[in-house]
Amino acid sequence: MKLEVIKKLTPSSPEISEKKSKIHNALSTEDVLLKLAYCKLTNKEMDFILGKYLDDDESLSHFYKVFLYELNNNNTYKSEEKDLVCSVVKASLIELTVIKCPFCLGRGFYKLKNNIQKCDHCVDGDFIYTDNIRANILKMNKKEYKKIAPMHKNILKEIESIEIDALEKIGDTS
Ligand SMILES: [Zn+2]
Repeated sequence: MKLEVIKKLTPSSPEISEKKSKIHNALSTEDVLLKLAYCKLTNKEMDFILGKYLDDDESLSHFYKVFLYELNNNNTYKSEEKDLVCSVVKASLIELTVIKCPFCLGRGFYKLKNNIQKCDHCVDGDFIYTDNIRANILKMNKKEYKKIAPMHKNILKEIESIEIDALEKIGDTS
């Protein structure tokens, strides 16, 4: 998925991109920014895409601040939940941007001495976030997590919809 989006952001002329990839595999940030500028993304969408697909931490932390500010402004959650909301937004950003399975390092399998074993923590290298994992990220026990799970799922959905809108604008509907 990550690769597909990055490919969409590369110049459309196959000749140019082929030549470039032969010289060096890394794609020029300028190319990506130029393409993104034409997609008419909002600042928020831009920050998320740069943070997730180009691993730009500064953009992601900017997204975090703006997203949180808007949540607070809309009074979506009670003021005494403020710290909790911060943690939940952070956990949601981890879930939506850290895709690679940390157990098998995104390979989907383990190499053992004499054979290969499928990794149970992911689907082909994409990490599976279960409620247990989510509770762990938030340093909560199962019971505590259960109480805030609906809130977590709402925030996840909200950030996800920002990503979907942005990808639609870029032209990636997969
Ligand atoms: Zn795995």
